[in-house]
Amino acid sequence: MAYIIDGKKIAAEFRAQLALDVASLTQTRNITPGLAVVLVGNNPASEVYVRMKKKACADVGIASFSHELPIDTTEDDLLALVNRLNHDPNVHGILVQLPLPPQIHESRIIQAISPRKDVDGFHPENVGLLATGSPGLRPCTPLGIMALIAKSGMDPAGKHAVIIGRSNIVGKPVALMLLQAHATVTICHSRTHHLQQVISSGDIVVAAIGRPRFLGKEAIQEGAVVIDVGTNRLEDGTLCGDCDFEAIKHKASAITPSPGGVGPMTIAMLLANTIQAAQQS
Ligand code: NAP
Repeated sequence: MAYIIDGKKIAAEFRAQLALDVASLTQTRNITPGLAVVLVGNNPASEVYVRMKKKACADVGIASFSHELPIDTTEDDLLALVNRLNHDPNVHGILVQLPLPPQIHESRIIQAISPRKDVDGFHPENVGLLATGSPGLRPCTPLGIMALIAKSGMDPAGKHAVIIGRSNIVGKPVALMLLQAHATVTICHSRTHHLQQVISSGDIVVAAIGRPRFLGKEAIQEGAVVIDVGTNRLEDGTLCGDCDFEAIKHKASAITPSPGGVGPMTIAMLLANTIQAAQQS
């Protein structure tokens, strides 16, 4: 039976440390880390994420500044807000909740955020710093995945890490982080031939596909560490991951549940990035 990597518990421990970091920053430099959270429109899922992020900020002592804009906000108006936040000394991190409505180009907004306040780690400068292995703000979900792999006890060095999914927010950055941790990395996607065969050679498997219970136990090598990034809403309203958790837990050496694995760690890493940005301000 696999070790269940309990993301909720690990994230809570992480947040307790972050609260101490905030207290120390306030005491030594009189800085309260501040996160501006920008939401355009009223996408219900985005509203839930934003609420969770603001609550998590409050729990560790980070100030959050909410900007809720109407769905018909123009790109120029959003760029003007981002520009104001870039110059606001109380704001150390800027999070523009994605997706944005179609009249706004996400890439233009991401590029307008100061790289020093880019706590999502999506700005091309931070992406380049990650690619070259230089210090910078890193994307939150991949950071959370790396922390969960560390908790599994498996050192990625020399291991074969197989990532399914090549998105800019999960697949590609986690591949770079695993490479930096000296894993041998394979990235799979919808055009990969012999997918099951490739996955079954993975000592570490990261599933970031967005398809309910796509991976069964036949695809997993005995003793693999499995990180399930998928968060899929089923017709009955419940959530499930990309992996068949109940089947795989008898074959893997460690596995994250979903929900309750990567999700809570993503938010904890957003807080960590905001504190890092404040420390470097
Ligand atoms: P995405 O942008 O939709 O990317 C999905 C990837 O899966 C693509 O690279 C796609 O390949 C690949 N894929 C799709 N079908 C496949 C198949 N049949 N075989 C092999 N590869 C296949 O998704 P994402 O944004 O990375 O998110 C992935 C999942 O993680 C979603 O469920 C999302 O909700 C979840 N997520 C969770 C968190 C969290 O904090 N818990 C954060 C981010 C994302 P192509 O590139 O060839 O299309």
